[in-house]
Amino acid sequence: MRKEFLPFSRPSITEDDIAAVADVLRSGWITTGTRNAEFEQRFRDYTGCRHAVALTSATAGMHILLKALNIGPEDEVITPSMTWVSTVNLIVLAGATPVFADIDRDTLMITEETVTPCLSDRTRMIIPVHFAGAPADLSSLRKLAGRHGVFLAEDAAHAVGTEYNGERIGASGTSIFSFHPIKNITTGEGGMFVTDDDALSERIRRLKFHGLGVDAFDRATQGRSPQAEVIEPGYKYNLPDMMAVLGIRQLERLDEFIEKRETLARRYLEHFAAMDAIIPLALPEGSARHAWHLFIVRLDTDKAGISRDMFMDELKKRNIGTGLHFRAVHLQKHYRETFGYQPGMLPETEWNSDRIVSLPLFPDMTESDVDEVVSAIREVLCR
Ligand SMILES: *Cc1c(COP(=O)(O)O)cnc(C)c1O
Repeated sequence: MRKEFLPFSRPSITEDDIAAVADVLRSGWITTGTRNAEFEQRFRDYTGCRHAVALTSATAGMHILLKALNIGPEDEVITPSMTWVSTVNLIVLAGATPVFADIDRDTLMITEETVTPCLSDRTRMIIPVHFAGAPADLSSLRKLAGRHGVFLAEDAAHAVGTEYNGERIGASGTSIFSFHPIKNITTGEGGMFVTDDDALSERIRRLKFHGLGVDAFDRATQGRSPQAEVIEPGYKYNLPDMMAVLGIRQLERLDEFIEKRETLARRYLEHFAAMDAIIPLALPEGSARHAWHLFIVRLDTDKAGISRDMFMDELKKRNIGTGLHFRAVHLQKHYRETFGYQPGMLPETEWNSDRIVSLPLFPDMTESDVDEVVSAIREVLCR
């Protein structure tokens, strides 16, 4: 058995990263400033997007996007239930109604087929998730949204570096990325709102800083008046330089991180090809690039003879950490009780919600760590 606990995720932070953050702390300017502007510029260069606005989280980005689109009572927003709770919470907090589209069993993503029956004359928005670092089927979802005059916002929290049809996620449309510590790059906490819509970008920039239309950096260095006025009431979601500097450095290493993740993922896949109780997700088709944010498998609970939760506990006893991305949102306490949602409503989502488990995958892991995870799994399955 492993001596040291192997977490399912760990950010890759170097001494130089720490020194870069310390330099910002010593510089006299620690909130949003030149580092933030540079991070946004580099993110534009990397993804090929037109506008990028750095924020304190992806959740913040979703909050102000719903606000910018004036989503509210009477409106419906189509989302998977297999997503992080933040999206659904924010839809409800905006006074709108979440409408859950079921997912493809093997990609965990919503598709044209699952979204179509959810459309109504109240639908305003569709929010697909690029799950685990694989791209959603954007071309059919974009066409569907276009035909119905509905806004498509991509939840790209898992998808920095992902490519679809040879194009990076973010290069067109509207996407929101996350830099939470488990994500492919991190700023501690942080996010990036990305769009090719000029007016929307301006509105988001304003809403992330009090609705002033300028932030503290603009006011201090761009010659904008410190007496700037509120154009509309806004929030306070600007990313400080002490975090942005980490983003700049992490972005430089992103491709190296993804290559490492891919090598590890391929090794898992080789092992699991011969284990019928472990069902990996489907790989993306066509000219896609998987960013391998998560390595998710489904436990065939009939073949394994144990539940997924027991499986996770048994791995933990063997010093292997695991994650759960995600527990279906519609069956969580608030949503069950408030909306009366029942099991049976979203068969593929629920089937996966009971069986998925995220295995350790992060750039500083080794191939022998993968082998140890797999031997621990073999041991648990053979008990
Ligand atoms: C992490 C995550 C988010 C939220 O990101 P934060 O930066 O933590 O707000 C949203 N959606 C998905 C699918 C995520 O995994």
